[in-house]
Amino acid sequence: MAVNDTIFLSAHEAPGQHSVQRCDDCGQDLHERDASPACPQCGGLLAIIHRAPLDIMGAPLEPKAIHHTFAQHCCAMPMGHPSGVWRFESLVMPTAGEAITSHPEGNTPLMTRRVVSEWAGCDGLLLKHEGYNPTGSFKDRGMTVGTTQAVRTGATAVACASTGNTSASLASYAAQAGIPGLVFVPAGKVALGKMAQTLAYGAKTLLVKGDFDTCLRLVQEASRELGIYLLNSINPWRVEGQKTIVFETLQQLGWDAPDFIVLPAGNLGNTAAFGKALREAKALGLISRVPRLVSVQAAGAAPFAKGFRDHFAQRYTVQAETIATAIRIGDPASWDRAVRAIRETDGLVLSVTDDEIIDAKVRIDAAGVGCEPASAASVAGVRQLVRDGIIRSGDRVVAVLTGHVLKDPGMLVELHQERTDFAQANRPVEIDATVKAVADIIAASRGAEA
Ligand SMILES: *Cc1c(COP(=O)(O)O)cnc(C)c1O
Ligand SMILES: [Zn+2]
Repeated sequence: MAVNDTIFLSAHEAPGQHSVQRCDDCGQDLHERDASPACPQCGGLLAIIHRAPLDIMGAPLEPKAIHHTFAQHCCAMPMGHPSGVWRFESLVMPTAGEAITSHPEGNTPLMTRRVVSEWAGCDGLLLKHEGYNPTGSFKDRGMTVGTTQAVRTGATAVACASTGNTSASLASYAAQAGIPGLVFVPAGKVALGKMAQTLAYGAKTLLVKGDFDTCLRLVQEASRELGIYLLNSINPWRVEGQKTIVFETLQQLGWDAPDFIVLPAGNLGNTAAFGKALREAKALGLISRVPRLVSVQAAGAAPFAKGFRDHFAQRYTVQAETIATAIRIGDPASWDRAVRAIRETDGLVLSVTDDEIIDAKVRIDAAGVGCEPASAASVAGVRQLVRDGIIRSGDRVVAVLTGHVLKDPGMLVELHQERTDFAQANRPVEIDATVKAVADIIAASRGAEA
């Protein structure tokens, strides 16, 4: 399928508009405030195409000037914006004005932890921790923009299908915007933390008898027939928001691009967003070279990794099964865009087993950082690339941690309290309420360390 390859609007296109929604397949443009979930002509996915940032004389801004603008918009500055999404407004939604629904979100840390670097075999491995967002995952970056669009179009309700984090995020932003939220999740397959958030923030939660892929089909049909604004990962405005993970990381690195950016991949919305962000950053001269993008799938849900191995000759679907519920997706919606992202960045697609994911997660958790299972796939992927000699000594690598450790407490309880075959289990101990009992425990653990 052809993916439209315009990066920015040219001078004669869409006069008077800052951005349009353009169909990937047939190239038709919709007004930026059109609420259609897909191309009305051919059903293709819509992408946002902006006009490149201009100075007051209408000439394209130099890269240095754009860097400067973004620096001035950092939250601590007098003209700063408290959101790590909206300070990049000119490349996200230039016409949002005062209308935005923002928590705020973004401004997540880029950190290193020696134990994690050592385990992965990658010196100075940088962890971009998106679990520090307000609802605990990167989904908030897309949701602030998607919800802003919902409000601008006068939506009466918003809906999504979700493996959990999108629904938690939608529920929060819909509540802030004062619009009813409707979420479709696979019954019995959503991690406890995500379900709890969705209920708490007040979205109407529909437990669908079927998997994520079934939920996605159902919500698309329902929104078409019932006129509800769709906030799935194919929503073009969510993609715009998720680009800021890359912009913010590059800004934190002084616009000196790393060699690799590694992220977990399920529905491929984030892979597509990262590809678009890098394409735009390169076209504007914000970076001088493009990092290699690495998408990491769980072995039990790895149709994209399979596609990569045969040079994307065809599109695969699988029956997905993995402990990492956020990437438990067998029929990824943003396939074509993700292919483009991998091709343009000389990228790679890997798969890692559930055991490798748990192994990585245990190290990240024990470093005091923590993340949800899907997030650990990126660090497991780094370890694999080091072993394969693709990441080499001296390479600068960013691994994205997509979600917070508290998202999946069920898995942690199982691992540390219930499983008997797990060597690193940190079991709680029941004691009598005496100082002697405490002293005995301390003595025993000293003995174990010696
Ligand atoms: C949504 C999500 C992913 C997967 O992102 P896709 O855009 O579906 O590929 C990975 N990790 C976490 C924690 C997520 O919430
Ligand atoms: Zn079309």
